[in-house]
Parts: sequence; C-alpha cells; structure tokens
Amino acid sequence: MTDSKRQQPISYSNDTPSRQQLLYSAQQWANIDTVLLDMDGTLLDLHFDNYFWLQYMPSKYAEQNGLHKDAAHKILKQASDETQGTLNWYCLDYWSNRLNMPVAELKHHVVEKIQYRPYVKDFLGMIKQQGKRAVIVTNAHRDSVDIKMTKTGLDQRVDRIISSHDYQEPKESQEFWRHLQNDEPFNINKTLLIDDSQAVLRSAATYGFKHLLTIFHPDSQKEPNTQSEHPGIHHFNELFHKDNLIG
Ligand SMILES: [Mg+2]
Repeated sequence: MTDSKRQQPISYSNDTPSRQQLLYSAQQWANIDTVLLDMDGTLLDLHFDNYFWLQYMPSKYAEQNGLHKDAAHKILKQASDETQGTLNWYCLDYWSNRLNMPVAELKHHVVEKIQYRPYVKDFLGMIKQQGKRAVIVTNAHRDSVDIKMTKTGLDQRVDRIISSHDYQEPKESQEFWRHLQNDEPFNINKTLLIDDSQAVLRSAATYGFKHLLTIFHPDSQKEPNTQSEHPGIHHFNELFHKDNLIG
C-alpha cells in the first residue's frame, strides 16, 4: 500500500460494539481465513512487560550497581531509546549481555503478572470453530515466548507461533513479511493482522495488508489510547457481533 492510499489518523473515541459491526460485517468476516495475532498487548496484557521493564528491572539494576532507582531508570530508558525498533530491543540475550543481568530468569520472578487480555480465549475459540487459521506473530524473544506459553497455555489455542527472531528481522522491517509469506503462506486479501503497535501496523500496510486492526487498551493498568492510523478495538468482544457468536 502506498502512502497516498494509507488511511488518515482517526480517533475512535466513541467506539462501541455496534460501530465495530460496521468494520466487519458477517460477510466481510467470512472472507477472512487467517488471523495473524501479536502477543504482548494484543493477546496478553502489556502490564507484565511494562511492569518488568519500567519497574522491576530498574530496581534490580539499581540494587546490582549500587545506584538510586531514578538513576537506574534513566540508564535503562536511554539504552531502550537507542535500540527501539530493532531486533535487539526485543532480544533477551542482548539485554542480558548489555546489562549483565539474567533477564529471562528475572522474568520468572514476576510471572504471576502474565495474564490474558479480556475475551481472548473466547475469540480464539471462535476463530477455531469457524475454521480460520490463527498464527501468533511476535517480536518477543523465544525465551520470553516460552515463559508466557508455560504460564498461559496460549500455544494450545493457536495453530502456530512465529517469533521475528526466527527470521532475524523485526516486524517493523519489510523483510519480516517476506520471510513470513514464504514460511507461512497466506492470502493477503483474506488475512487480518491485529497488533497494538502503530509502527508494526504501518510496516504491514506498506507491505500490502488490507485488513489491519489495532488494540486501544493493551495495558490493563493504563488508560486506553484511541489515537490510531488504523481501525481498532478495545477488546475482542467487539468482534463478537451476533453472526459471529459461538454456537
Ligand atoms: Mg504488541
């Protein structure tokens, strides 16, 4: 999709399930045969990741290096800003080396914060019942994916999980989608991508995806944000209009 065809930013502040029906009528929904789903902030509550990186890690880094927590927070923020949008930003090995901390192991300490987002189990059940293919496409490192699958059993509810680390390209890169198309063939006219990242949706739109949805409320502990270049939903029940209900 070219820039000129891209949708202008729209605020869906008055979004309701009835409005969402206009985005996907029964006929349009029936035309979708594959749903590509982001993991963190889409299927799982982004609160875990925000808590881990913005609270737990700074406090552990401060403890390890004899720093005040504010100073540790500043160092981690700067390191994060330097790498954002690259595969390293998502790579636990990179952070373990750079910070000299066992990041994957530390995640296990706060594993109770890993939670499904609302209505996700019902939504994935509906997709399965309708015979659509459900594939997780995540920028998360495989170690992080494993921790989350062990805690939630999410892997039992989808057909396949692809980490961008498998291709050594983040979803923000066009190369990621080319790898995906070869590895997991999909009809771009019948494939819906749901992702809470505007940068990822922009990358997917550039590649040529026609059906894109964002998540307005990725972190349950923060206020929703409805400013988006793409249509979106607060929760998956907004895709459950009467024609889509299970049973
Ligand atoms: Mg995400």
